Amino acid sequence: MNKVNRDRIPGLLKKYQAILRLEDWDITLSDEKPDEKNQAEIDPWPGKNNAWLRIAEETHDNLDHIVTHELLHLYECRRNDFLETVLREHITDAAALNIITQELRQYQEISVDKLAGVIESLMRRKSL
Ligand SMILES: [Zn+2]
Repeated sequence: MNKVNRDRIPGLLKKYQAILRLEDWDITLSDEKPDEKNQAEIDPWPGKNNAWLRIAEETHDNLDHIVTHELLHLYECRRNDFLETVLREHITDAAALNIITQELRQYQEISVDKLAGVIESLMRRKSL
């Protein structure tokens, strides 16, 4: 586990928001901790380019990876909200809805984390 140096986070947000073309987002580092099972969470506000970022005091992954991962979630958050709203409207079976929603979130986590890894490799190669 790595102890998180919170002082690095604003600089990392600025760096990776520029790289990922997400400068139009206003992200606030929250003092709240993420859910116990998560290293970090990003919580976009409905309809606005604002988000809360929560990061645990200790993490498995390095901070660059975590910040990149959380920022990548911003690309899909609107689609996810839309998708989950449509699913809630059309799937009346609560158990089925729960399974589908969990599976979708799992796929999103995998793709976002893979992309964060790809960006990390590219950054290392270009030593940006
Ligand atoms: Zn994630």
